[in-house]
Amino acid sequence: MKSKIWLSPPHMGGLEERYIKDAFITNWIAPLGPNVNGFENDLAEYLGENVFVAALISGTAALHLGLILLNVQAGDEVICQSMTFSASANAISYVNATPVFVDSEKETWNMCPDLLETAIKERLSLGKTIKAILPVHLYGMPAKIKEIKEIAARYNIPVLEDAAESLGSTVDNVKCGTFGDMAVLSFNGNKIITTSGGGALVSRNADIVNDARFLASQARDEAPHYQHSRIGYNYRLSNLCAGVGRGQMEILDERVRQRRAIYNFYREKLGGIEGIEFLSEPRGYFSNRWLTTILINPEKTGFSREDVRLKFESENIESRPLWKPMHLQPVFQYAPSYRNGVSENLFEKGLCLPSGTNLSESDLSGIAEIILNMAAK
Ligand SMILES: *Cc1c(COP(=O)(O)O)cnc(C)c1O
Repeated sequence: MKSKIWLSPPHMGGLEERYIKDAFITNWIAPLGPNVNGFENDLAEYLGENVFVAALISGTAALHLGLILLNVQAGDEVICQSMTFSASANAISYVNATPVFVDSEKETWNMCPDLLETAIKERLSLGKTIKAILPVHLYGMPAKIKEIKEIAARYNIPVLEDAAESLGSTVDNVKCGTFGDMAVLSFNGNKIITTSGGGALVSRNADIVNDARFLASQARDEAPHYQHSRIGYNYRLSNLCAGVGRGQMEILDERVRQRRAIYNFYREKLGGIEGIEFLSEPRGYFSNRWLTTILINPEKTGFSREDVRLKFESENIESRPLWKPMHLQPVFQYAPSYRNGVSENLFEKGLCLPSGTNLSESDLSGIAEIILNMAAK
């Protein structure tokens, strides 16, 4: 059997080992150290907009701390994009708040601003307290973040931006991860760059980022003994993982170029098939194209996204349906939701194609060929 093609595997640039070696030589094998500080600085510099960054063990940990720092408490509500990965919504449950799910719009597949406002009005009229709005830039495509921020400002609700999939994406040349009052990044193994596992909390407010670092290292008060006046967490990134991150930062721009080239390749090969649709960038939007996604309309193609996925699977190629909306997940079935059918349609028709930057040209051609052959029948 041919070796497996993964959806989005890690891709080292070659410089990571140098930073790891430094950590060994200096014995900084701890959840702090020069690579952690260096990685935070690299990220802050890359993002621009005068942000500060706290490096953490995962994007999920960053979401959790973000909600804690926004003072989200039991009984509060957080309005969350329904079309997302479960981690966005799980964090809301960690603080015993209620997620309220809002459906997507068709242009970016992310949180629909109109439906967001409808949801805010109705929740407020029901006497609910909305502590945060949690939009996501899914698959690297930026959400209608300016419209969302404008609505959030009007109702005085902070925005926690989930930029886990969108490092390198921009709207009007401003980077995703700098729009929210706080933002979350992920360096999980499948993301555009990885630290094997890792994440970050980003904010323009230095106090918030300092608080995040404090809570992430067990909330230890200044004292010679262990002294605590708050509940802490063990969420700080290790100096070894941060070393991988420093190496990865050096090739981030290249990875964005490569991911976009993969998207262009698929679009060129498959874009002409009647019933297969690609997601285009609205004007002013720049996607890192973390994953190339297609919509398959079986009435026009004669095959479904599941037919393609199974065909891929038989050829040892990993693909995945678009993320199943949170309002359809059994674990969130009792959460309120504001729906328009968009995310359900995406889930039904959508497929993520293998998008790893270590795919060879012949791998990519082979993948495209499978769909072309199905379409030719
Ligand atoms: C990956 C991801 C997360 C979680 O990040 P981890 O680092 O895996 O914990 C959160 N939100 C979205 C949208 C993600 O894709």
